[in-house]
Amino acid sequence: MRKYTEQTKPHSLEIFCNCCGKQIRTDRDRIAEGVFSGHVQWGYFSEKDGEIHDFDLCEDCYDKWIASFQIPVEIKTENELL
Ligand SMILES: [Zn+2]
Repeated sequence: MRKYTEQTKPHSLEIFCNCCGKQIRTDRDRIAEGVFSGHVQWGYFSEKDGEIHDFDLCEDCYDKWIASFQIPVEIKTENELL
């Protein structure tokens, strides 16, 4: 879950894990730790036609989530990290 606050600096980004509620560390408007950002636009053949869902997960909740998968996620290694 992302929200922009104007409490400290204008439009500071705050991100919270939707699963456990933990605040994700950010440095100004940059994410400063592992986070999974989910976005899906449900289409006509779903039960949620027209709905757009957005959520963020901290790395711990992501690990717990994928551990419940019947088929493991595909893991590749990126050679050049920017
Ligand atoms: Zn979490």
